[in-house]
Amino acid sequence: NSHRASRDGFRPIRVSIEFFPPKSDEMEKILWSSIERLAPLQPKFVSVTYGAGGSTRERTHNTVARMVKETNLKPAAHLTCVDATKEEIDNVVRSYWDAGVRHIVALRGDPQDGVGTTYRPHPGGYAQACDLVAGIKKVGDFKVSVSAYPEVHPEAASLEADIDALKAKVDAGADQAITQFFFDNEVYFRYLDKVRAAGITIPIIPGILPVQNFKQAANFARRTGASVPYWLAARFEGLDDDVETRRLVAAAVAAEQVVDLVDAGINDFHFYSMNRSDLVYAICHILGLRGQAPKAADRKAA
Ligand code: FAD
Repeated sequence: NSHRASRDGFRPIRVSIEFFPPKSDEMEKILWSSIERLAPLQPKFVSVTYGAGGSTRERTHNTVARMVKETNLKPAAHLTCVDATKEEIDNVVRSYWDAGVRHIVALRGDPQDGVGTTYRPHPGGYAQACDLVAGIKKVGDFKVSVSAYPEVHPEAASLEADIDALKAKVDAGADQAITQFFFDNEVYFRYLDKVRAAGITIPIIPGILPVQNFKQAANFARRTGASVPYWLAARFEGLDDDVETRRLVAAAVAAEQVVDLVDAGINDFHFYSMNRSDLVYAICHILGLRGQAPKAADRKAA
């Protein structure tokens, strides 16, 4: 962990980094070279997503298991309720416990027919994320993270209904929440005020998406209900064919966002890495994190 000089003195900055399980050998190489680059920064945890409809069950498990075996990282496995019975999910959770994993990111998951369609719980499954949280806590003493939506989940009846759903997850035992990404920090601060006013006291870690590809990020935002401020679009305007400038702008935009959050007293960050290390590494560096030389034990493990 590192300390960054902020206006009110030195405070520890903690980061976590999200990856997705690779689909091909080439993507696997990219993922592991990113992990190698980012691991010396000693993130608080690294998480591995679970594909829509449970499509990556094996790949998520294998990636997490390899992290446990070959690195000093603390992995968190994402898990959804989609298309599985409680028994099937409990078995996945138990296999994580047996593999040495102690942290799960518990989600309902998206509707089987895609975002925007109606979610149908599996008849023998966990109906909502809060039920999954309770189920995981029954299997073992896991740390459980859940999602939070500063700009409201697309299916939620209202912001209040969404905060009630977060409260249900907390009451079921959730230890912390990670937000959907947002670009306008005011959105996050307003949400935080509402969450705290509702009596929710767990950490609400801001999820930061460093923009490697603006078009892709904007598409992603449309599907998740995150807004794209006009100034963000303006910053990437005309750079589609200018990779070098795009990278510099991307680093500047992300740095500006996290530094503003640090100045407002935020110490914890979750980065959606898209399995790439460059931007996340640069932002972490700006936040004051420095790579630690591997200890003897790490070298042995590697
Ligand atoms: P929930 O908290 O379950 O909320 C979903 C909707 O249901 C909301 O409208 C909410 O208001 C409502 N609701 C919740 N509880 C209740 C209740 N008890 N009664 C009535 N209504 C309720 N998806 C994946 O497939 N794999 C991943 O690995 C993955 N990782 C993610 C990580 C993060 C940090 C985030 C923010 C999202 C992630 N997602 C992932 C996306 C997520 O699965 C979808 O957004 C999904 O549509 C909702 O699941 P949830 O657990 O986030 O939301």
